Amino acid sequence: MTITNGDAQAFFHARGEIQDYTKALEILEKEYPARDGLDVETLLDSDKHGALTYNDFLILPGYIGFPASDVTLDTPVTKRISLKAPLLSSPMDTVTEHNMAIHMALLGGLGVIHHNCSAEDQAEMVRKVKRYENGFILDPVVISPKTTVAEAKELKATWGFGGFPVTENGTLRSKLVGIVTSRDIQFHTSDADPVTKVMSTDLVTAPAGTTLAEANEVLRNSKKGKLPIVDKDGNLVSLLSRSDLRKNLHYPLASKLPHSKQLIAAAAIGTRESDKDRLKMLVDAGLDIVILDSSQGNSMYQLDMIKWVKKTFPQIDVIAGNVVTREQAANLIAAGADGLRIGMGSGSACITQEVMAVGRPQAVAVHSVASFAARFGVPCIADGGIQNIGHIVKGLAMGASTVMMGGLLAGTTESPGEYFVSSEGQLVKAYRGMGSIDAMEDKKAGKGGKDSKANNAGTARYFSEKDGVLVAQGVSGSVLDRGSVTKFVPYLIAGIQHSLQDIGVRSVKELHDSVNNKTVRFELRSGSAQAEGNVHGLHSFDKKLYS
Ligand code: GDP
Ligand code: GDP
Ligand code: GDP
Ligand code: 5GP
Repeated sequence: MTITNGDAQAFFHARGEIQDYTKALEILEKEYPARDGLDVETLLDSDKHGALTYNDFLILPGYIGFPASDVTLDTPVTKRISLKAPLLSSPMDTVTEHNMAIHMALLGGLGVIHHNCSAEDQAEMVRKVKRYENGFILDPVVISPKTTVAEAKELKATWGFGGFPVTENGTLRSKLVGIVTSRDIQFHTSDADPVTKVMSTDLVTAPAGTTLAEANEVLRNSKKGKLPIVDKDGNLVSLLSRSDLRKNLHYPLASKLPHSKQLIAAAAIGTRESDKDRLKMLVDAGLDIVILDSSQGNSMYQLDMIKWVKKTFPQIDVIAGNVVTREQAANLIAAGADGLRIGMGSGSACITQEVMAVGRPQAVAVHSVASFAARFGVPCIADGGIQNIGHIVKGLAMGASTVMMGGLLAGTTESPGEYFVSSEGQLVKAYRGMGSIDAMEDKKAGKGGKDSKANNAGTARYFSEKDGVLVAQGVSGSVLDRGSVTKFVPYLIAGIQHSLQDIGVRSVKELHDSVNNKTVRFELRSGSAQAEGNVHGLHSFDKKLYS
């Protein structure tokens, strides 16, 4: 007789022997020592089953002994940096610029800014991410008493905020004399007036040395928009903004650095000499994590680059890749990679496997690399081929700590570019592989990303400058409108929590441990099992995924 774990309780209860599930499992294990389903190694035995990807298997359910809301998704993205949600947006020029990066970080994930643009534009995007939210603003924009209202208005247009402390000589660490805010200048028509005419001088301040929590309390009680922090001589040392209290309240999962409370910024670069200069600019703008963006990461160029970055910017975490084999990973780990990106040819806009005859099905690629990298404490990203929540969970079950998505996020409001109406009358946004002819020609022409004013070629992911012929490894197309990531990412997070609850694990770490110790089990899916697992037999249906 075959009994599934899920049936155990009912089965033993019916026999009247016991009512306790743990006991039932003990008896089950004694009487039926072979556990139901397959362990991960057996599942992925390619001699027996061929090389699998996400749709080829399912995870068996476990025991639900906790609410889905108890499932935590904290997970490392590099050796040193962890996120509260295992979700990354891909460094592609139709997916991640500053707006996506800011929102992915606010929602607990991470957006990796693409490099198909000038170094200046990319650095500006990193700066926007870092400036978006703060604890103490340590380098606030400061103006002098001679600054005119017109200049203050210009500064507001440039920076996107309009609260400027006024100090005697217009710099930080000079005596604070007042503050100008948006409201002071908004309706002031005499643009030539100095800001001293409109600024507030009766200021609530807090002394240097005040903790962030204390300063926030002063700010809350003051009912003002800004709280300047001053030293004992009245010199400005930093600034606090009320809107940051709101952001902190609204986005409890935000990926922030514990000290600065600034959002974590990640960006991709290539492996050319010129990418070293690019990285210097990104680091000056506040970058935390760099991704070395190659479709085949196991190259002398990337090994040299990892070593150079680790030596030159020890504070920056380096994610290397892409890789799909242990041998590729071993080189990058030995060179000092703080994280790995796994996937070759599994992306939705990708034709590498067809054209280059290289690559690997994603489930087996993730498991091979991640199980090896785990021995060295190197977290892995399952990159590409994620079409739904089930794929995310399967990527994590294969050992990835996070997943990276391109196509799934390209149709959201926060991706670069405008929506347009397709020939079938649907609202869509452009999505293209970075190795598509379109993207490569933009690089060669120096056009860069869609929203950025790029003026020189950025990435050389899929070709060398010397190449006379461009060989496409990606396609250019469009994806359906998905609304805002502020709705979509919380949907993904809630879905992952429910899935992990079904599996019977409370965290990503517990999922990894339980797959490794063979308590989480799998089942292969035949073709007809896949058909059964999808909607079938309906005359028509509406597939609304969340509300
Ligand atoms: P403002 O009232 O027009 O200054 O704008 P808000 O208070 O709505 O937003 C200011 C946002 O910009 C906050 O999240 C700040 O952390 C952020 N920010 C980053 N750098 C600066 C800066 O130099 N000055 C100010 N005022 N805000 C900054
Ligand atoms: P918490 O006490 O669990 O919230 O620990 P945190 O390290 O998140 O926060 C410590 C203090 O910093 C609390 O007073 C938070 O309200 C405050 N805080 C957290 N994030 C921000 C932020 O982005 N801006 C500001 N101004 N304060 C923050
Ligand atoms: P990939 O095609 O995704 O692996 O992207 P890469 O940028 O790593 O490589 C593109 C091409 O340029 C490949 O032929 C690489 O071997 C080559 N390449 C990468 N970095 C360098 C470099 O620093 N110098 C030179 N000469 N070639 C490089
Ligand atoms: P998606 O989430 O759309 O399935 O896959 C996104 C991933 O596809 C990216 O993170 C990147 O690794 C990969 N990718 C992006 N552009 C191309 C391309 O032109 N060719 C290939 N082979 N892969 C690409």
